Amino acid sequence: MKDFDYIILGGGCAGLSLAYELDINKKLNDKTLAIVETRDSYKRDKTWSFWKVLDHSFEDCVIKSWENFSVNSKIGSVEINNKEYPYQTIDSGLFYNKILDQLKKNKNIQFFQSSDQLNLNNSIIFNSIPSKNSNLSNLWQHFKGIEIETPRDIFDDEIFNLMDFDCDQKNNVHFFYTLPFSKNKALIETTWLSNMKDETLNDYDTQLEKYIKETLKINNYKINYQEEGAIPLFYPLNKTEKNKINIGSAGGMTRLSTGYTFLNIQEHSKFIKNNIEKIENLKIYHIGKKYQFLDKIFLNVVKNNPDKMPKIFFDMFKGSSKTVIKFLSNKSNILEDLSVILKMPKLIFIKELFTK
Ligand SMILES: Cc1cc2nc3c(=O)[nH]c(=O)nc-3n(C[C@H](O)[C@H](O)[C@H](O)COP(=O)(O)OP(=O)(O)OC[C@H]3O[C@@H](n4cnc5c(N)ncnc54)[C@H](O)[C@@H]3O)c2cc1C
Repeated sequence: MKDFDYIILGGGCAGLSLAYELDINKKLNDKTLAIVETRDSYKRDKTWSFWKVLDHSFEDCVIKSWENFSVNSKIGSVEINNKEYPYQTIDSGLFYNKILDQLKKNKNIQFFQSSDQLNLNNSIIFNSIPSKNSNLSNLWQHFKGIEIETPRDIFDDEIFNLMDFDCDQKNNVHFFYTLPFSKNKALIETTWLSNMKDETLNDYDTQLEKYIKETLKINNYKINYQEEGAIPLFYPLNKTEKNKINIGSAGGMTRLSTGYTFLNIQEHSKFIKNNIEKIENLKIYHIGKKYQFLDKIFLNVVKNNPDKMPKIFFDMFKGSSKTVIKFLSNKSNILEDLSVILKMPKLIFIKELFTK
């Protein structure tokens, strides 16, 4: 059995972000770290996007940044401009390479494909492997995205489309999301909020093809890359033990109303780095309680009133974009929270406040 000071279970976004943060801040010069990751090799598998409300260590992995976005629904379209908080997209392939290049220089860090040879009792464990248990009535954000390339310049790459609700909702919440990386390349995603019981929602390829041909009016394109995923919109059941701290999605770093996780992972990594010497004795780090409370009501509204959601999202983005962006990125103050809440249909939200 091998002994390490720290063990990270799962070398994905959260595991590698934490290892990187510890390494570049010299917390691993005289401590050892084992990273347990099942995959054989790393390649681009996710495209992480977020409003840049705080500085992070991965500017060199950003493939595109926008100051404008739009939201479409059957009742119209809003265009939103925000220079203060640009929306950034990170290529996970660049992110993995950057971190792995850095970590391999440190002899105190070793990778393993399983924890069989490791002594798990004498280490501080950071776990990012999600627990398997989930309640089937819970909501998920599930999606497929394809990066397409067209022979001619078609896209306006100054503006991305955050949500296009002008599509079949099938009694759930459904929208398309388009990120134009250049004038002839864009990631187009079909996204659902549902409990994943209805299998007819999963014909993602047909949905994407129809949207690209009929709505975007693009007939000639090739697919360069694809990604598929399901983000749980409920808190994981991973237990926190004395020597085991959950991180990433397993550690509740996903904002339940939006699925945004990347920047929360970066903040959590910095928190652990700053407190690594006493981390076992600190309270569990979590996304602010007020967001947990408001997101719970919001998800009840999604569950019970999916048909109202396109208008709710549409109304939310009308007016001050800065306020909504800060709210969705968990950086809003109480006045900003109120201004977002006041845009919501009061009766529906009050009713859901009392739904269990
Ligand atoms: C396709 C996709 C796109 C997303 N896009 C965005 C986005 O745009 N913006 C945003 O903020 N969030 C996004 N998310 C949500 C979130 O940021 C990501 O899921 C992020 O990868 C979460 O990091 P994590 O470390 O918790 O999980 P992961 O990155 O999935 O890492 C977990 C790691 O554990 C490994 N593992 C699993 N089981 C074992 C085991 N038994 N032993 C050892 N290793 C194991 C896996 O191989 C994986 O590498 C997206 C999620 C997906 C799936």
